[in-house]
Amino acid sequence: MIRTLTMFVLLAAAPALAAPPPALETPVKDDTWQAARTALGQRLRAVNRPKRARNVILMIGDGMGIATITAGRIYDGQHPASGPPRTGEENSLAFETLPHVALVKTYNTNAQVPDSAGTASAMNTGVKTRIGTINFGAGQDAAACKTPAALPTTLAEIAKRRGMGVGVVTTTRITHATPAAVFAHVPNRNWEGADRAYPATDRASGCPDIARQLVDFAPAGAAGGGLDVVLGGGRARFLPTAQGGSRDDGADLVAAWKARFPAGSYVDGAAGFGGLDPRAPGPVLGLFNNDHLTFEADRDPGKEPSLADMARFAVAKLAAGSKARRRGYYLMIEGGRIDHAHHASNPARALSETQQFSRAVAAVLASVDLNDTLVLVTADHSHVMTIAGYPERGNDILGYIHNAAAGEASGPVSPEGWALDDQGRPMTTLSYANGPRVSPPLSSTLPPNDKNRLADKTYGTGSESHGGEDVALFADGPRSELAAGVIEQNLIFHIMAEALGWR
Ligand SMILES: [Mg+2]
Ligand SMILES: [Zn+2]
Repeated sequence: MIRTLTMFVLLAAAPALAAPPPALETPVKDDTWQAARTALGQRLRAVNRPKRARNVILMIGDGMGIATITAGRIYDGQHPASGPPRTGEENSLAFETLPHVALVKTYNTNAQVPDSAGTASAMNTGVKTRIGTINFGAGQDAAACKTPAALPTTLAEIAKRRGMGVGVVTTTRITHATPAAVFAHVPNRNWEGADRAYPATDRASGCPDIARQLVDFAPAGAAGGGLDVVLGGGRARFLPTAQGGSRDDGADLVAAWKARFPAGSYVDGAAGFGGLDPRAPGPVLGLFNNDHLTFEADRDPGKEPSLADMARFAVAKLAAGSKARRRGYYLMIEGGRIDHAHHASNPARALSETQQFSRAVAAVLASVDLNDTLVLVTADHSHVMTIAGYPERGNDILGYIHNAAAGEASGPVSPEGWALDDQGRPMTTLSYANGPRVSPPLSSTLPPNDKNRLADKTYGTGSESHGGEDVALFADGPRSELAAGVIEQNLIFHIMAEALGWR
């Protein structure tokens, strides 16, 4: 079979070798032709990359399902950083131009629709596990807290043993499930700190809380094993109640971190962050909010850095350290609040968070050499938002549906062209299958009076659920061609390990 294939390849290749370059002649070479030639060139560069990565960057849009990517690209086109708004459908988010794509099956071992703990564990350990569990095997429970050496080893732990740098960046609490999967092992994702969410009976398990594990991170066999750059929220989990934190054990983990890393830099606001030199020695811990960072739509740049700024700094910091230690790095960057906005059925915030995540990807792609750095961009799971109706081209992605004229039979339409549901009410393009705003915001008032209610950013919280369909994985860099087909989520770990030359 192999010989047959080889023969076929040789025969197929032979005429191309012998003959002059085949003509590619057509009278129409417009901008779509030129754009396609550019995209082809990008793919050719990608398949010809070196096979070994020095660095790996895993970027996760929490809850960024495929409908969110589509709606996010339209939103980004309709709300550009500069220039006039566009119709949006033709736009691309930064990671959508990466040449390799796979579909990822996200289920947890005991859950058809997963959560961020089980999914992040799959990506960081190479094995799937239970919903709500961080870096425990599917068959391990709290009793395994007593035998940490028997728990799945993470990519960060192996990286540290091999002298690499490790960083983690997020817009959520740094102790939240996705970032925690970089550095912690807990059978219950809620054990973020020594507070009510980690009751005394559970603490008897012997598992340190997630904040404590961050400060103490020191994989067996690694020299000086701390995390090199940590940026996000969740400061309250590190401070005792007496200091405005939530810890009831009196521990000041910020002080503990400073004591462990005398050369390190701790910052808790945008000003301190802006003063950091990525080339300075010593690790960096930045905790910019007691809880999650603020949604991008509400962020005060005087208080919190943007995800793109944090991503850019983390890459620069790890690259500088990597030069000094002659080893690469592993960096996980999470746009963590797409998920939170969806849980509140708040598409305005979910899409602006997706836009900010895309800007962080752009910042990373502009900072790395894709010939030595594997960049993977994915989601941990989806949400139940859908894009529906027959809105005309350029219709406000957060608005009601104004029908495309003379389209497919699409139900009743008002004289003004607004699509109506079976009860005669106007419909929005985006809706949710469950949560606080199922099919938001149905109204008997016809637009345009009420046209922008989906753009309302003041929706509260809620329990709209995750979605269970596959998510996308985008990739470029060494071995990015392994991101192909329909894969299990834990294969992402093995792709990263293979790119790093780990067998
Ligand atoms: Mg998350
Ligand atoms: Zn969620």
